[in-house]
Amino acid sequence: MSNRLAELTARVAELEAERALTLRLAQTDSLTGLMNRGAFTSGLCERLEEARAHGGSVALIVIDLDRFKTLNDTLGHHAGDLLLAELGQRLREEAKPGDMAARLGGDEFALVTDDVEIAGRAERLLAGLSQPQTIYGRTVSPGASVGVARFPRDAQDAADLQRYADMALYRAKTGGGRRWSAFDAELRQASEQRRTLEAELRRAIPAGEIVPWFQPIIDTMTSRMVGVEVLARWNHPEQGLLSPAAFVPMAEELGLIRSIDEAVFEAACARTAPWVAEGLIEVVSCNVSPRDLMDPAFSRKLIKRLSATALPATALTVEITETFLLQDMGLARRHIERLAATGINVALDDFGTGYSNLRALMHLPIQTVKLDRSLIDDVGRDPRVSKLVAAMLHAARSLGARIVAEGVEDEGQALFLRSAGCDRMQGYFFARPMPADAMEAMLRDAAEPPTPRRVAVG
Ligand code: C2E
Ligand code: CA
Ligand code: CA
Repeated sequence: MSNRLAELTARVAELEAERALTLRLAQTDSLTGLMNRGAFTSGLCERLEEARAHGGSVALIVIDLDRFKTLNDTLGHHAGDLLLAELGQRLREEAKPGDMAARLGGDEFALVTDDVEIAGRAERLLAGLSQPQTIYGRTVSPGASVGVARFPRDAQDAADLQRYADMALYRAKTGGGRRWSAFDAELRQASEQRRTLEAELRRAIPAGEIVPWFQPIIDTMTSRMVGVEVLARWNHPEQGLLSPAAFVPMAEELGLIRSIDEAVFEAACARTAPWVAEGLIEVVSCNVSPRDLMDPAFSRKLIKRLSATALPATALTVEITETFLLQDMGLARRHIERLAATGINVALDDFGTGYSNLRALMHLPIQTVKLDRSLIDDVGRDPRVSKLVAAMLHAARSLGARIVAEGVEDEGQALFLRSAGCDRMQGYFFARPMPADAMEAMLRDAAEPPTPRRVAVG
């Protein structure tokens, strides 16, 4: 009997050890052996509780490597892993007893420490992490940037503390010069402005302040306006007209982009359906956020919403970007095929900016590609760029895709694109984006007999 008891006790101890190991593994980043994000977040909350109870102070230091993506791409993922593991080790060495060091994911690390002599700590951390190291016989000097936020002087809870440290990090990364930065009055003001803007954006959507503007798309051969791209604008009551850069990224973060896209889509369909019915244009091209496309029901919902408008499916183009295509090729294919089956055209936006675009074009039934503005800039001026763009046009065309060049700003670019066989063009050279009334007036003016006003190409 006592043997049996000893056996059971041993078994229980074994199980407990196993459980502890599993728990530790679940809290550990396997590459560096540091805490992972999940463990770090709960550890930070506990640490703040403790400091609150005892009147202590805490500093959160977030660290982000510079140029890690380039290193990873040039030296390979395995080398990237070695580098991260080494940096994890250096961070561990830099940590004092009682500190919490973690890898938050990718090339992002964090250290939680007492709020004592932070400037010196940040400098030492940067110096330690920037020491050159040899990987596969090559010397690599991984620069880093650091952001700091403190409890209780900056923030009262873990979420704000992390947000503020990230803001400081972002400033250090983009500010030039200083490689570390701490949350301060200037960042607090920016953060408050952003909070206000967030609240205003939530209200702006139901209030109908987000409206579609339109930019004409020109047929290269006939120089006629054959379509419009729908571009969102926010009629802000105090700040005036805001462009998507001021609110689309924020809307994506807040999960509001879907309601924006829906509101813009509905307003755009209502406004453009008569233009299509009267033969003023053939194409209405709408932008869709990668976030929308992650919804497996996206295409079904879009088709349903379209059927509630007077715009025919064959007149609609949906512009999507590679960010989404890459994440889930299978889902992308299902959406594209479902849309195509009802006659909706799918365009690959910003073509030529990322390296996966070609892969998307090879494997997915994409009917239109939009050549990115950055490629058009030097076309017709720099012979190498011209050759490359001509080859890209050829590649897209041989796969049966139609090409629309974006950001055409001068006659030289337009002439080159026409000679290279580009199907359609869009850009300031022809017209800037404009409100619906102005767009309608321009279309009617162009359609007017007896001398149709054509937008000239050369
Ligand atoms: P995009 O789809 O690449 O749109 C083209 C952008 O280039 C537009 O900026 C347009 O105004 C600008 N543009 C057009 N021609 C020229 C030119 O000749 N030169 C220069 N320098 N720029 C030109 P915009 O309207 O500020 O839109 C920026 C981005 O915001 C769009 O890029 C698109 O990705 C996004 N966006 C716009 N509307 C919506 C929307 O309703 N929903 C979503 N999800 N995204 C939108
Ligand atoms: Ca677009
Ligand atoms: Ca684009």
